[in-house]
Amino acid sequence: MRALVKHEAAAGLALQEVAAPVAGPGEVRIKVRKVGICGTDMHIYNWDAWAAATIPHPMIIGHEFVGTIDALGEGVTAFTVGQRVSGEGHIVCGTCRNCRAGREQFCPNTEGVGVNRPGAFADYLVIPAHNAYAIPDNIPDELAALLDPFGNAVHTALSFDLVGEDILITGAGPIGVMAAAICRHAGARHIVVSDLNEKRLSLALEMGASAVVNPACSDMRKTMQALGMKEGFDIGLEMSGAPVALDTMIDAMRNGGQIGLLGLFADKVEVDLSKAIFKSLRFVGIYGREMFDTWHKGLAMLESGLDISPVITHRLAFEDFEAGFDALNRGEAMKVLMDVN
Ligand code: NAD
Ligand code: ZN
Repeated sequence: MRALVKHEAAAGLALQEVAAPVAGPGEVRIKVRKVGICGTDMHIYNWDAWAAATIPHPMIIGHEFVGTIDALGEGVTAFTVGQRVSGEGHIVCGTCRNCRAGREQFCPNTEGVGVNRPGAFADYLVIPAHNAYAIPDNIPDELAALLDPFGNAVHTALSFDLVGEDILITGAGPIGVMAAAICRHAGARHIVVSDLNEKRLSLALEMGASAVVNPACSDMRKTMQALGMKEGFDIGLEMSGAPVALDTMIDAMRNGGQIGLLGLFADKVEVDLSKAIFKSLRFVGIYGREMFDTWHKGLAMLESGLDISPVITHRLAFEDFEAGFDALNRGEAMKVLMDVN
């Protein structure tokens, strides 16, 4: 089969012919239809310090996908051949305390599809049947291929009671703008999104933000005043990974506000924690998606009118993968989808 492989300890990827995987007991083999390029794939493509320390090679990368079940391993009864699925890319141990308690998203033994086991940028992918998720007929392939990053946004946003609340989202990347759409759909009042990239801020407005702030040239306080906000944001969703954005967020929260931390910081972060203490803020770290309530609720919101399709900016053939990675590296693209089969 064809696969996009991190073949050497250097930047780039190679489209190679490799042996197709076989579904073992409890696993399903999926014929991949569409895949999306994620920030993690960019780290691996560019071979930064995190990737060099984390990714064994050769490794087939990629974890955002939709496809059809092509073969069932021994003992799999929950799926049928031909069924359309996406899947959870975090493969958990099933035996630790959290897994046994039904909190699989907190498993300390998680393996990542396309990170430390073969990924989805290939004709075929094998994952445990437990991780496959059936896609309703009314959800198009393009959206089904985005359920993984959309799920990060769903899990972060729905960690809080959003109804009637004022939300600050720092970072208008694919996950930040999808989070803005989710907060709007779920009944938030004001949704303010900050980013340094004007094109991304326009998309945030298109997807449901009430107002946007570019910290390079506009003032958060003025935006809050213009919206009639008196005491600060009720909920903050940190989706930039920029320490200064978190510091600004702490400043802009009301007393007793709550902050969800999704953005990954390259280094240790310096923030004014005393200010957070005096404000009685609550912080929660968010990793991955809830298994599998995030999948259920995300699909339910898409079925009830939530539109995340504007986040897709590039649609390419699998062979043209370089163009997709280039567009992301140049900061032109939001979500890049590739047609595999
Ligand atoms: P992205 O890199 O495309 O988006 C981040 C955005 O933050 C960019 O548009 C950037 O311009 C903006 N930004 C930079 N400095 C800023 C500042 N000072 N103020 C406001 N915005 C600023 O990333 P994404 O794919 O949308 O993902 C969002 C974040 O979540 C990333 O940090 C990513 O690594 C992280 N992530 C975490 C998980 C998890 O499970 N915790 C999963 C996926 C992604
Ligand atoms: Zn576990």
